[in-house]
Formats: sequence, structure tokens, C-alpha cells
Amino acid sequence: MNYLIYPLKIMNITQGYDDNYSHKQHNSGTPKDYPIDDNGGSSKKDAYFYCPCDEMVIKKIYGLGTAAGNTLWLESTNPVVTPSFKDYVSIIIVHPNDADFKGLKVGQKFKRYEKIIMEGDDGKATGYHFHISVGRGKLVGTGWMQNSNGIWIIRTTKGGVKPQSAFFVDRKFTTIKNDQGIKFVYLDDEEENTGTKMYVTKSLNVRFGPNTSYRAVNSLPKNTEVTVYENNGSWSRISDKEWVSSNFLTKDVPKTIYKTKKTTAEALNVRKSPNGKILKEKAPLPTDTTVAIVATSGNWTKINQDRWVYSFYLK
Ligand SMILES: [Zn+2]
Repeated sequence: MNYLIYPLKIMNITQGYDDNYSHKQHNSGTPKDYPIDDNGGSSKKDAYFYCPCDEMVIKKIYGLGTAAGNTLWLESTNPVVTPSFKDYVSIIIVHPNDADFKGLKVGQKFKRYEKIIMEGDDGKATGYHFHISVGRGKLVGTGWMQNSNGIWIIRTTKGGVKPQSAFFVDRKFTTIKNDQGIKFVYLDDEEENTGTKMYVTKSLNVRFGPNTSYRAVNSLPKNTEVTVYENNGSWSRISDKEWVSSNFLTKDVPKTIYKTKKTTAEALNVRKSPNGKILKEKAPLPTDTTVAIVATSGNWTKINQDRWVYSFYLK
């Protein structure tokens, strides 16, 4: 899973988003963002910002050679999993010094745990630290905007998010020295959530989001065994991106159970019979769609009702 984790090895937050110092201006205006300052453990210049998810890309660099605080914009190249949502995230980092931007350029990508940049004190900072602000979604326009207090805040498709809603703390990576009372969710607690096995009680639609405004991409037959990783209202998430209505799931184990596989093709044709007429409804199936194995015939797999796919594209 592409978890978003806290990006520093030592968490030593010197200013939360919610106190009465400079960050108040960020979250009392509109729109809001929720920055934290973290000095990485000490007043020394010794902490790095590490790539906190599978991959991030530099979208913008601002302030080099000027009096303004140097600012770096990062965006995840894929949706990440946070304690509160699954989406793209964008992060603003302020204060690294000019010299530490050497070798960094827009478009550069970083993999999880790779060092991105060192803390600094550029732009009237009181000491070496990172000012970190997270937004849900991709960056919009110039990546920042002035709020109603005239303060520059991160600008993304879905707006600023609080650090505890954005980052898990991976205890194997980050040691907490001071969290300023912010309650973070530990990654190992999340990882223990290996899901709950449940069974489909009625042929039901699978969607790429937790409501009916998302198109039905497939359907699963009664007695399909699924794993539920997350609930959202009356919707259950059964894979990274697939959701079904919770009303048609039960923990009661049926007599017949259909196991599932995932599609591997980009657009897998669904047919009325083995090698038969190609169906249009809920088809073709996108990659990584969960399908039930209802029956097989030669190289063909029956996935629900009279719907068949070529078994070569299932794993
Ligand atoms: Zn700050």
C-alpha cells in the first residue's frame, strides 16, 4: 500500500498548526492550511526531508536568491493512503537554504525514503527547521494562494489537510521527540488491519468510489468471498480502489464460496459465453478489477451471470 508516512527521522515539532504563533494566520483565514514546523530533533542543521510515499515529483521551486523563504512544491505521482483518505497529495516545504537546492530541479522524482532536501533557515527563519504544509489532491495553478489574512498557503484541488490526517507515523522510521500534542496514527496499527473476510449476499455492483455516482465497473455474484479493508458510510472497500454496498455483505460463511482473481489486461473483454459475443455493459474490465471465479471451461472463466473472460488475463 502506498502509505503516506511522516517524512522526518526524528519528529520534533516546534510549532503546531493550532497554536497562537505565526501558523494561526494560516488556519484562521480562508481557505486554510495547517502547517507545522519541525526541526528534526535539534537546533542543529542535520535533518533531511525524506520522500514519504512510493514516489513524489518536484513541481516548483521558488525563492532562491531572494529575501523570501525558499519553497519547494512536491506532488505524489500516484494516490497515497493516509489515515483519512486515499488521494494524491501535495506538500510545500519552506526554509531550505539556497546551497541545498543544488542538483534539484522541477520534474525530478524521488522514491520512498530517498532524501529530498536538508532543513534550513532561509527567509527570516528563527532557526533551522522545515515548515511543512500538506494539501489533498494535485497542485492548482501556481501551487499557492493568499488566504483572507494575506498569508500564502498551499493550493490544491481539495485543500489543506491537518498533518495527523495526512501522515501515518512509521515507528520503524520516525522517533517522536515532540508531537506538540498532535495525535498521529501509527502505521503498524494500520497495517494490522489485514481486512475482514465477508461474503456477497446478492449479485452486486463494484465501483471505484463509495457512492453510486461512480460508474459500476463490474458485478460480483452471490457467495463471492471478499476482503473488506475500510468502511465509509454504507460502503465497503474491497481492494485499493473498489467499493461495494455494505448492505449486501455478510460474515456468515455460505455453503458455496466463489474465490476471486484480479484482471491483468488494460481492457478485458467480457463475453456472453466462452469465446462468445462481446458484451458492452460493465465492460471491458479495467486492470486490477476483482472478478469471481464462478466456473471455468477450457481457457475461459465465468465471472458472474452469463459473463465470461479469457482466463489468461486473470491472476
Ligand atoms: Zn512555519
